[in-house]
Amino acid sequence: MKAYQVVANGEPLEERELDTPQPTGSEVLLKTVSCGVCHSDVHIHDGYFDLGGGVQLPSPLPGGEPLTMGHEIFGEVTAIGEEVEGINVGQKYVAYPWMGCGDCDLCNDDMTHYCPNNSNLGIHVGGGYGDHVLVPHSKYLFDAADTPDSLAGSYACRGLTAYSALKKAGPYTKDNSLVIVSAGGLGLLALKIAKAAYGISPIVIDIDDEKLGMASQLGASATINSTEEGAAEKLLELTEGGARSIVDFVGAEASVNFGYNLLARGGTYVIVGLFGGQISVPLPMQALFEKKLMGSYVGSLGDMQELMELVVAGKIEPVDVETRDVSEVNRTLEEMKEGKLLGMVALTHD
Ligand SMILES: [Zn+2]
Ligand SMILES: [Zn+2]
Repeated sequence: MKAYQVVANGEPLEERELDTPQPTGSEVLLKTVSCGVCHSDVHIHDGYFDLGGGVQLPSPLPGGEPLTMGHEIFGEVTAIGEEVEGINVGQKYVAYPWMGCGDCDLCNDDMTHYCPNNSNLGIHVGGGYGDHVLVPHSKYLFDAADTPDSLAGSYACRGLTAYSALKKAGPYTKDNSLVIVSAGGLGLLALKIAKAAYGISPIVIDIDDEKLGMASQLGASATINSTEEGAAEKLLELTEGGARSIVDFVGAEASVNFGYNLLARGGTYVIVGLFGGQISVPLPMQALFEKKLMGSYVGSLGDMQELMELVVAGKIEPVDVETRDVSEVNRTLEEMKEGKLLGMVALTHD
């Protein structure tokens, strides 16, 4: 099999010829049809996350070995282990990549994504930047009905991340009860999921008018450019005095400082984006206003199940995804790092 691997952090990925894995037991082998390029791939490639103040959280290559990235995998089953049931060779599936050890309290409580001994596809073990991916069990595979091939894999990370974060920030009673920070690929996906799952139109905040225009077209109830004068007043007016729920897909100092101060009493602010930085929160205000500041990291297998039910039922309108040949992976990561990508990109294998 052919794979594009990170050989050294920050260096261009290299095309490598590897042995194609043979599934045994409960394993399923997928031939990669399409694999989304997610912003966390930029951090995995770089080998760190920015914690602000010049501090970095390292994310080294597992075991110092070359890594085949790509965790938004949509693939066709080419072989199955002898214990696999209910999966047909030739059928296409989305792979849930957030694998745990399968044997700890977290894993037994539908929190495999928190497991300290995880082996996530495309992060710890080979993923969809390779033309084949070995999935340890069929329970991680989901039908995507008639979702476009280029989009399906993205439900396993960006879609799931959006769905799970929206679940944490609710409940939503009406339009404008949700504020989405970012009109980038993930923000727009969240907008569609909010409409499908909760039947509400959210407010969308960004610093780019072109992206905000897209959010309007896709049904945002209102859009706000947070760099413009009067942005805070506009949000307070639209939310009748403060936002109940804000989901921040940027996670930068500027976005959190802007939004957190505009939260209503008892409101919830969920940070999803990994842009990085630090904020300073006056503690008495935290108590007096009973604000909740929390993070959200991907989502559980149960969340994935719920999301894919909405997808299969056709409730979530597909977003457009640009496809590129996997050989363009280095250019794609570079453009994503520089913030030049409008919308989503998936890599295909010929
Ligand atoms: Zn991702
Ligand atoms: Zn575990």
